[in-house]
Amino acid sequence: MSFNIAIDGPAGAGKSTIAKKLAAKLSFLYVDTGAMYRAMAYYFLTHGISADDEDALCAACHDIQISLGYAAGSQKVFLNGTDVADQIRREEVGNMASATSGYPFVREKLLRLQQKLAKENDVIMDGRDIGTCVLPDARLKIYLTASVRTRAMRRYKELAEKGQDCDPAEIERDIEARDYRDMHREIAPLKAAADAITLDSSEMTVEEVVEEIYRMVCGTEKGNTAHETVH
Ligand code: C5P
Repeated sequence: MSFNIAIDGPAGAGKSTIAKKLAAKLSFLYVDTGAMYRAMAYYFLTHGISADDEDALCAACHDIQISLGYAAGSQKVFLNGTDVADQIRREEVGNMASATSGYPFVREKLLRLQQKLAKENDVIMDGRDIGTCVLPDARLKIYLTASVRTRAMRRYKELAEKGQDCDPAEIERDIEARDYRDMHREIAPLKAAADAITLDSSEMTVEEVVEEIYRMVCGTEKGNTAHETVH
């Protein structure tokens, strides 16, 4: 049976950076489920479909094929056969993903693909509902969070480094709006699973978080999972 690790948490908590490093350290497959929602959102945006137009979104889902590939350890996301890994990183795509990920037909389309990957591989899967819905039997569940201010500043630095013009206050507002939508939607809302370990990374470096989770993985293998909050 495969060994699955679920990492959930709000936007900008550092899930993907940490999950990628851990996956490399453990030789697990890293599965970024946000990228799948973003690829669907990218399709909706490029086809001029509004986030409110439920019928058009549902119809479009029949025309969308999402698949993942791996090259040199990094995940590629294919939308109808085309690698869209770069295009889906834009803020507007993230916001569209958040606005459309609450529809059941969008979630159902991705759920089976995510569960299949976890059944066939040892995975570290990050997202919003991995511990609660996608992999309820994951061997280790982490809820990774950080303050809104910390997350907004991390995002700002990331965009500034890429030379993208952005306003920190606007990023903070976007993050708050996304948190609210992700936490209050009817289906698969963002929340910590009852058996998840909550880790607040506001005052931690990436390396510290990776080490902390790595220690938990070793503890879990010894059947020693603790239910606790680590600061
Ligand atoms: O993690 P990332 O910012 O790439 O995710 C984009 C959006 O996709 C999130 O704001 C959320 O609405 C949605 N998502 C989700 N369930 C997941 C992963 C992402 O609803 N498992």
